[in-house]
Amino acid sequence: ILQLDNIYKDYLTGKMVVPVLKDVTLHVEEGEYVAIMGPSGSGKSTLMNIIGCLDEPTKGTFLLNGKNVLGLSDNEIAEERLHNIGFVFQTFQLLPRQTALENVALPLVYAGISKKERKKRAAQALEKVGLGDRMSFLPTQLSGGQKQRVAIARAMVNNPKILLADEPTGALDSKSSVQVLELFQQLNEEGVTVIMITHDSGVAQHAKRVVYIFDGELSEKRG
Ligand code: ATP
Ligand code: MG
Repeated sequence: ILQLDNIYKDYLTGKMVVPVLKDVTLHVEEGEYVAIMGPSGSGKSTLMNIIGCLDEPTKGTFLLNGKNVLGLSDNEIAEERLHNIGFVFQTFQLLPRQTALENVALPLVYAGISKKERKKRAAQALEKVGLGDRMSFLPTQLSGGQKQRVAIARAMVNNPKILLADEPTGALDSKSSVQVLELFQQLNEEGVTVIMITHDSGVAQHAKRVVYIFDGELSEKRG
């Protein structure tokens, strides 16, 4: 479902070129559950932004569903992203003045779904993460674990094939972390390809495959 080959990413800051990803090759099949592990500054978020079509590599090839996304226009990329990828972040990224239901319904606005249908689907997504009784709550009225479950419902409301999570448990206590990891497990069993970034080896153990990144270079122990 994902095929990255010989990916390089340099950032330009002033006159300085900062090489961040160095010859990264990563192939992920549909239905896999992959953890990407590495220390702070190793390039994890940079790699996630490329996989999520939020940023482009300096060099290399990237196929999403067999399609060369680097050759697409911005509008075409946005379309691919909408239907293929759900994002979850460490800091939840919920809109503070919108209820849980409105936050979850947001991607459906961009997908052009009618208001009635949006409400129905967002409610279903919230039921699925165990928050059917919190639909009209604002983010400030939810616990950290509940906010992250709202974010997961929002990420999945369009039924994307891939769930990308950048340190999804980084801001959570152990009980909420377990709930989030159980949800990922369930989604993966339903066929969703899960890619999770973490620097916690205990969290990474929940994935079926672990890939390591050090100083922009990827390595993998298969077992
Ligand atoms: P963390 O675990 O702390 O989130 P990370 O592995 O996600 O770290 P990245 O955010 O990918 O690391 O950053 C990797 C390197 O790239 C860092 O050295 C950072 O300074 C640099 N970097 C990231 N974004 C930019 C940018 N927009 N411009 C310049 N340098 C950047
Ligand atoms: Mg990061």
